[in-house]
Amino acid sequence: MAELTALELWVRIQESARTSVPKHSYLTWVKPATAVAFTSDELQLEVPSRFHVQWLEDKFGPVLAASAEAILGKPIKITVSCSGVVSSTSIPSIDLATPQIEETLDQVSPPTSADPDAMPLLNDRYTFERFVIGADNQLAAAAARAVANKPARTYNPLFLYGGVGLGKTHLMHAIGHYVGKENSLRSVCYVSSEKFMNELVMSIQQGTMAAFRRHYREMDLLLVDDIHFLEGKERTQEEFFHTFNALYDAKRQIVLTSDRPPKELSGLENRLVSRFEWGLVVDVKPPDYETRMAILQKKAADDGFSLDSEVIEFIAHSCTASVRELEGAVIKLLAYSSLTNREITPQLAKTAFRSTLDQQRGTGPILSPERIREIVARRWRVRAEGLASKRRTKDLTVPRQVAMFLIKEALDMSLVRIGELFGGRDHSTVIHSIRKVEEEMERDPVFRELVDAARQDFSGTDSSST
Ligand code: ADP
Ligand code: MG
Repeated sequence: MAELTALELWVRIQESARTSVPKHSYLTWVKPATAVAFTSDELQLEVPSRFHVQWLEDKFGPVLAASAEAILGKPIKITVSCSGVVSSTSIPSIDLATPQIEETLDQVSPPTSADPDAMPLLNDRYTFERFVIGADNQLAAAAARAVANKPARTYNPLFLYGGVGLGKTHLMHAIGHYVGKENSLRSVCYVSSEKFMNELVMSIQQGTMAAFRRHYREMDLLLVDDIHFLEGKERTQEEFFHTFNALYDAKRQIVLTSDRPPKELSGLENRLVSRFEWGLVVDVKPPDYETRMAILQKKAADDGFSLDSEVIEFIAHSCTASVRELEGAVIKLLAYSSLTNREITPQLAKTAFRSTLDQQRGTGPILSPERIREIVARRWRVRAEGLASKRRTKDLTVPRQVAMFLIKEALDMSLVRIGELFGGRDHSTVIHSIRKVEEEMERDPVFRELVDAARQDFSGTDSSST
């Protein structure tokens, strides 16, 4: 396959992405990218704006990587850049095709001195410089700084917890960048708990446990994301327990994140929970209004687009749940403006968010759980009655989980009541389903897109029939 040119490879990846990515997303984000270079292990893409960089990486990175792997029979790295800014590697491109985006030098990623293969997979944008500190994340940010400055000498482990999209992973990567930059001899490893588990399973299957253990126990800094994922995974907990002890005893820094504090991780062994509390446990809360404004302003400045203050106020006012929601709103607005060819004004922002806001204010059409079930059934091409039934057919499981998730989200109905609506399932099944959907949305951009599409359908809902 080495004979493929960058262009040929990219065309084939696009062809396969076209089937898995919704059409408008494909046209807006995937199609405008051009391939500039292809080496044995890397495909470099160039896009018209910094914004495309983020969108392509966050939303479609996994899809594109999977397509590339399927075509080439091996994984490669896909890097995305726009004029002068390269993400994830540091090969600046000199095409200045986008005059509307002002480039400043300090936004260009500095070249990394260390061997790229030895570098952990850290998101270039998740640095301390880009992290906005507010009242709600101040402690977490200060703790992360302290740990980055003096690994294993202040708080070990550092345990960050809080809801989705509040900056835990960002802070964790920031520590990794900082430690890697200050001392390139240090080995840094970032891993999600899920990846840790998958690698463990593979090592058991392939008889490479010794190498697995050596790899993790040699790290100077181990960053393990979303540790709550290990709930109920006993074998992985056991292995992680030993990794933790080995690192801790060798005075290496460990940083963990979770959606809950250690004590509430009921599916984790006590000996792990108590170790998680040895160092510092800090929470990250949703940003307040001022922080939301500051994040939006910083984002606009960093990413080179302009939003006037009225628009910023509007978004900060409407999106309250998380930083990810704020970012999503900006992405939606920019996409809306580029698709409709209209400038971003407060009016446009209001139009773009109208459906969401109507729902929140209750001025829009009233939704019923039945309606949500129908919408999901239609999207997933199954029968709505099937979702409400007790049947355990495989193709009903996912849409049923999605419907439960959306009913909880949109109508905030009690778990017991939701269970009743789905063939009399008990509330723990409902919790499990909701969590499953959340995890899957984090993991799989295509799935998230599907759920978003179902959400969009609600805005077109005509009436309720509760
Ligand atoms: P979590 O791991 O808590 O779910 P992330 O770290 O993935 O959340 O953050 C979600 C998004 O919000 C990321 O793009 C991140 O860069 C951004 N973000 C979160 N908190 C901040 C902040 N304080 N300043 C700037 N960006 C932030
Ligand atoms: Mg995270």
